[in-house]
Amino acid sequence: MGNEKFEEQIPLHSHCIVCGRPIKYGETFCSEACRRQYENMIKARRRMSLILWALMMAIIVIVLVSTYFF
Ligand SMILES: [Zn+2]
Repeated sequence: MGNEKFEEQIPLHSHCIVCGRPIKYGETFCSEACRRQYENMIKARRRMSLILWALMMAIIVIVLVSTYFF
């Protein structure tokens, strides 16, 4: 194949933040599939933090209401 030699000669390169494959310097993903996977991860994390935030607000409201009534 001779692929290993070729990779050693690249002085500057990045790694795909999803799968870790070596890619062109300055790039973030090796493929469209990895980009999509990363975007899905971000979306899931955003949804998670939204749920946590809503839970915290609910707890605060419950505490406020209960201290107001008792
Ligand atoms: Zn990748």
